[in-house]
Amino acid sequence: MDSTTIKQLDQQFVIQSWSKQANRDAKVVTHSDGIYFWDQNNKKYFDMNAQLIYANLGHKHPRIMNALAKINQLEISAPGFASASKSKLAKKIVELAPANMAKVYFTTAGAESNEQAMKMAKAVTGGYKIFSRYRSYHGSTFGAGNLTGESRRLGSEPSPPGFVKFDMPYVYREYQQYTSEQELSAQYLTRLERQINCEGPETIAALVIETIPGSNGVLLPPDGYIKGIETLCRRYHIMMICDEVMSGFGRSGEWFACNHYDVEPDLITFAKGVTGGYLPLGGVILSEQVAKHFDTNHFSSGATYSGHPLVCEIGNAAIAAYEELDTINHVKRMEKVLGERLQRLLAYKYVGDVRIKGLFAAVELVKNKVTKEPIIDYGSDYGKDTQGYMGAFTKLLSEEGFSTFNHESNVLITPPLTITTAEIHEAMDLFEKALVAFEELYPE
Ligand code: PLP
Repeated sequence: MDSTTIKQLDQQFVIQSWSKQANRDAKVVTHSDGIYFWDQNNKKYFDMNAQLIYANLGHKHPRIMNALAKINQLEISAPGFASASKSKLAKKIVELAPANMAKVYFTTAGAESNEQAMKMAKAVTGGYKIFSRYRSYHGSTFGAGNLTGESRRLGSEPSPPGFVKFDMPYVYREYQQYTSEQELSAQYLTRLERQINCEGPETIAALVIETIPGSNGVLLPPDGYIKGIETLCRRYHIMMICDEVMSGFGRSGEWFACNHYDVEPDLITFAKGVTGGYLPLGGVILSEQVAKHFDTNHFSSGATYSGHPLVCEIGNAAIAAYEELDTINHVKRMEKVLGERLQRLLAYKYVGDVRIKGLFAAVELVKNKVTKEPIIDYGSDYGKDTQGYMGAFTKLLSEEGFSTFNHESNVLITPPLTITTAEIHEAMDLFEKALVAFEELYPE
């Protein structure tokens, strides 16, 4: 089928996520390789957000291509059956996770993983309230949509009873008001503890955090904050759920971002990177304590495609590829290269802040570097600015061949984890060209 027909049928028959449907202009990926893809005009792009932060092994990774070619030899079997690929993958994920983790429940996506984690926490604790944070994204199903703490939750509201939001520290916007990151963390943790007590700790099942909030701008937690969350959870017998859908599988320079902060969550949710994005797979990793609960209590959940053997096989291939490439150490090395390039951006007029952990990075644009006035106000409708400043900037990036997305004033830089030093430099040269063009477009 030619690209014109593909685009026309897409426009006519497909509903696309998070957008008005009339007159949208979806690109067609005609071919791809490594960190690159090409559109219908044969224009080449650096895939600097790994599609949707899932193509962590890049495009057409040989090990995955090989595994995909072979999965037709496997038997399919429903969740109640054991299969080699599912058993092997669950064991491997438990080995990569923090030491207290014991079992895996497989799902098909990130949102579904969060739905299941909430149900598990309720079953174990007997509580019904779920705390989650503003400036978080946890998915767009009804429950995960109500966990979400930014404008993308609006389509799921009004929420059912029990969803409670709390605020999180934003180091760039508040740090000057505190003498240290520890002090900033302490202030927020004190407020959170007060809120837990006001709500009644015995009513609370879980506290859900994106260990490093991703699409809201890679908001790195200040020192002591994540450990402090764990302490509160232990003190009040609340389940700590780390949403690692975006940050898991090497993105932050550890297998899971919670490994940076010396914590042992009760539940970890994952998706995206587990298959390098080649097939849909997600899941919940249960701590030994949570897993034990279900030894003698009915596990009241299920899904037709939970642990689908063909999909799990691609999960095994992806993890083997991450290990073969020594991905964790490679990401740490590339963090230095990208980090230095990001620091250079601070010389540009509209760049307020840059943040990076592993190959998980964001550039925050501001109207004014002194007042830090954001280009788009927090909480404004998602996609509202497609015709404004941020829309203009991402269009300039795209014209340069730098493919990524923004959420409000933050532009994400989250390339495939296989990216090389030379590729980072080439891509960031394009980013800087777009910044120069942006300054010319908006001289005041
Ligand atoms: N949680 C986080 C942190 C995410 O970034 C996402 C998706 O971007 C989700 C959950 C939802 O995952 P999915 O789109 O697979 O449902």
